[in-house]
Amino acid sequence: MSSVLSVSDLTVRFATPEGEVNAVNNVSLDVEAGECLGIVGESGSGKSQLFMAVMGLLAANGKVAGSVKFEGKEILDLKMKDLNKIRGSQMSMIFQDPMTSLTPHMKIGDQMTEVLQIHKGMGHRAASSRAVELLDLMRIPEAKKRLSQYPHEFSGGMRQRVMIAMALLCEPKLLIADEPSTALDVTVQAQILDLFAQLKKETGTAIVMITHDLGVVAGLCDRVNVMYAGRFVETGTVRDIFYDPQHPYARGLLGSMPRLDEAKGEHLSAIPGQPPNLQDLPPGCSFQARCKYRFEPCVEDPHPALEAIGGGRKKACHLKGLSRDGEVVR
Ligand code: SF4
Repeated sequence: MSSVLSVSDLTVRFATPEGEVNAVNNVSLDVEAGECLGIVGESGSGKSQLFMAVMGLLAANGKVAGSVKFEGKEILDLKMKDLNKIRGSQMSMIFQDPMTSLTPHMKIGDQMTEVLQIHKGMGHRAASSRAVELLDLMRIPEAKKRLSQYPHEFSGGMRQRVMIAMALLCEPKLLIADEPSTALDVTVQAQILDLFAQLKKETGTAIVMITHDLGVVAGLCDRVNVMYAGRFVETGTVRDIFYDPQHPYARGLLGSMPRLDEAKGEHLSAIPGQPPNLQDLPPGCSFQARCKYRFEPCVEDPHPALEAIGGGRKKACHLKGLSRDGEVVR
């Protein structure tokens, strides 16, 4: 079975007056139907730009190279009109701020039916009833009445649900969600994540969840790719990476997250220092300046490649092993 999304060797560069920014460096990934892949990293790690490139939404100064296949078909070199046929119907992206995607002066019903009329050729009546179905699925009360309201008449959480409903109108095979619940309060956040879990289970939609929040990943994702300075540094199942992170950065991220399953009295520890400047990446490992396990090859050799370490996991680190209690094998 081919993957819904298959990205190989993707590189994203931005030309700026200060020089070229290496936002994404030779990244590869696959997403299968019905699974949720988490992409985790600090802000500026390249995780959003990677998927903006996948969707063909990079800013004008961005340049992309590599391969992006959607259901086995290369889409990176598609003309905009052909890409638009896939985008918004078979693959959709939702963002942190719904107001960037909703048109403020258009009624929600008109925005939703327009999508179905354009992509599915549906008549107005059929499109309206599909829109109501989706708003119901997103647990928006009095969905039919809501069709005649404008975005500003919805609360922040409701707008986010409307945006998810819009993204799902054409039953996409792939949904990319970029920090979809970050701007919302904790209760609404939990409701939105519940909706994603329901979606994955009931529709088989493949989901990519881009987030800096490991709690979101733990609650929703099957696999996770940890990203640092434009590269994946560890990939594996959520269970493997949460219980036995093998890359020092993944370990640092987990160490800074409050957990109920850890022994009382354990202290949270932030990762010291700042991510490197993407215009001027150091030779060697990008994490070297912040890594307490650094040794000569980390500085002297090229950045470690992302290599299989067994059990379907991969890591990009010169260490041979890192035990749960911090014992190191070099
Ligand atoms: Fe740390 Fe070296 Fe591994 Fe980089 S390669 S994460 S510096 S041990």
